[in-house]
Amino acid sequence: MTPLRTSYWHIEPVWLFYLLAAIAVGVFAFGLMAHVSVWMRGIRRQSIPFSWHGMAQLAWDGLFGRRIFRGDVAAGTMHLLIMWGFAGLFVGTVLISADYWVYHFLKGAVYLAYSTCLEIAGLMLILGLAWSLIRRYLQRISRLERRFEDLFVVALLMLVTLSGFVVEGLRLAAQRPDWAGWSFTGYWVGLVWTEPQAALSWYPYSWWAHALLSLGLIGYIPYSKLFHMLAAPATIYLEIQPPQAVPIETRNPDEEPFSYRDMIFFDACTRCGRCVEECPATGAGEPFTPREFIVWARNNLLARYHPLSRFEWFRTWKQRRNAKTVDFDPHKLWHCTTCSACLEVCPVFVATPDAIREARCTVVEEGTGVPLLLTQSLRNLYKYNNPWEATKKKRANWAQDLEIPDFTKDEGAAGLCYFVGCTTSMDIRAQGIARSFAWIMKHLNLPFAILGNKEPCCGDIARRAGEDGLFEKQMGDCMELFRRFGIDQLITSSPHCFHTFVNDYPAFQALLPPDEQLQLRARHYTMLLAELVKAGTLHFAQPLKITVTFHDPCYLGRHNGIFDQPRQVIDAIPGVQRVEMAHNRIHSLCCGGGGDRVWQDELDADVKMAEIRIREAEATGADILITACPLCLIMLEDARKTTGLEQDLQVMDLNEFVVMALGPPGSS
Ligand code: SF4
Ligand code: SF4
Repeated sequence: MTPLRTSYWHIEPVWLFYLLAAIAVGVFAFGLMAHVSVWMRGIRRQSIPFSWHGMAQLAWDGLFGRRIFRGDVAAGTMHLLIMWGFAGLFVGTVLISADYWVYHFLKGAVYLAYSTCLEIAGLMLILGLAWSLIRRYLQRISRLERRFEDLFVVALLMLVTLSGFVVEGLRLAAQRPDWAGWSFTGYWVGLVWTEPQAALSWYPYSWWAHALLSLGLIGYIPYSKLFHMLAAPATIYLEIQPPQAVPIETRNPDEEPFSYRDMIFFDACTRCGRCVEECPATGAGEPFTPREFIVWARNNLLARYHPLSRFEWFRTWKQRRNAKTVDFDPHKLWHCTTCSACLEVCPVFVATPDAIREARCTVVEEGTGVPLLLTQSLRNLYKYNNPWEATKKKRANWAQDLEIPDFTKDEGAAGLCYFVGCTTSMDIRAQGIARSFAWIMKHLNLPFAILGNKEPCCGDIARRAGEDGLFEKQMGDCMELFRRFGIDQLITSSPHCFHTFVNDYPAFQALLPPDEQLQLRARHYTMLLAELVKAGTLHFAQPLKITVTFHDPCYLGRHNGIFDQPRQVIDAIPGVQRVEMAHNRIHSLCCGGGGDRVWQDELDADVKMAEIRIREAEATGADILITACPLCLIMLEDARKTTGLEQDLQVMDLNEFVVMALGPPGSS
């Protein structure tokens, strides 16, 4: 007899199954509609271009879960078992439907191979699910939450799979076909029933139970974290799409501040908690986690754009439910340093720092909930062109005795434009960065000039605060000056200015007609120093017997991938021993100054982030902690004092360290 399977064997009435299936699909479609209605809010505003790179990333990260393996091989393997097991059973169900409705091809050897593949898929799924339960409830991995949904989702999947094996076992026990061994798990389960008649009497009940569980699962997907199986592939594809700028005058005040990418990213979050483990604000004991923010933003969007949101009762119910689900309010947005550590570890690329920035736009727009000191700093920025409440006339005071050409005053000023930045210009400690850089350039006879008192803020502070109107004004001021003085090459002191020039400006420039676009080449000073070392222009003759460690500023390293250049400069100095801190390079710990936190009152925390970092530096035994950012310099200097490490550890900017290695400033 040819091996095959008869669909709906001893099942009646079949129409009831189709009715239930239609209801399940309807419930699924309704839930899907709620998500899509949120997505469409964003997609309507921006186009999604096709990308082969996105497709390749989808293959790697979608099919093989590459990012889930990072730092947690067990989680990656577990997820792969669940994903491929589930996908195998799903494809098997599609094939059996096609066999019934379209063309009968599941017979003979094809059917036997099909049966065995499904057995393997089912076992993979059970193994993966059991592993996930062990990790969550026995190993009690701290980043994993133990909410009702977490247990319910796994239990439902487990019941669907196990009941499938029971149905198969009963069928094989009742039919006793020669080929039963090919469906080996079902065959083993079927051995429980020695009497075919007994198996047959149980069979229809188990079939209906399995059908109800499976249809329930289908309907439940869009209402649970299982929805990530649809949203995650979209986010993996979209991740490489460059963010598109939305100028303030084109914004509709009724539209959401989030980009379409963020709206889809929120739906892909499975609350895995990797971001929570990495977040420096959470690590410092602050009442904030990126996961809470994501869940809060997703819940709010779903409540607002759900097809039922027109009904008052639905909105009230949703609000109450959301308040029970997550403890978050807009005041907590200011805890984020936008360090991007969460994005680095998120398996589905949820871009929390961008989304936090966009959420801040609404808070700033409404004018409530912005920290007092930050409001004051933004006012200063508008008034004085810097957040430090200092007159514009003092901006170039640091350069008074250095005779540096000024584009805005000196006819012959030419060469690189050194963009000093607000903090480096105004803060007494940070001014050492500018003075040292100028000394190095003069020492090497390299032409450069500054914009003096006319140098505007690049707009980074306003951008990170979500004050986009002020950011666009600052960007306009900068571009106007660059155009007027023919500047197309910038060297920045601050990774924040560098980031703004290379990541924020181009998106806005792209909206201008081609003849109005200015092609700027911006580099952080560490990039220039590394180039000079490589070319042999900057070389160090005297050995320096000292041990140092390097703190990667978030906006230089994680945001822009500049990890090697500062280390190349340090390593070029003979005698210097460089040691790494426990968190380094891509896993560097934020000093707590980014995301405009330096312009806020102290936030509620168990310990300051900079103090955690300075302790890490101390643990290396280094004499000097080197960094390459004015904000890091200020934060770490402060932490050195508050932790009582003034005698044990020095904090220096890389420019200052290079000057020290070349000789005292007086020797130029
Ligand atoms: S945002 Fe990413 S890392 Fe954080 S919980 Fe969600 S999926 Fe996990
Ligand atoms: S960007 Fe940094 S501070 Fe902000 S949520 Fe992510 S990890 Fe936390």
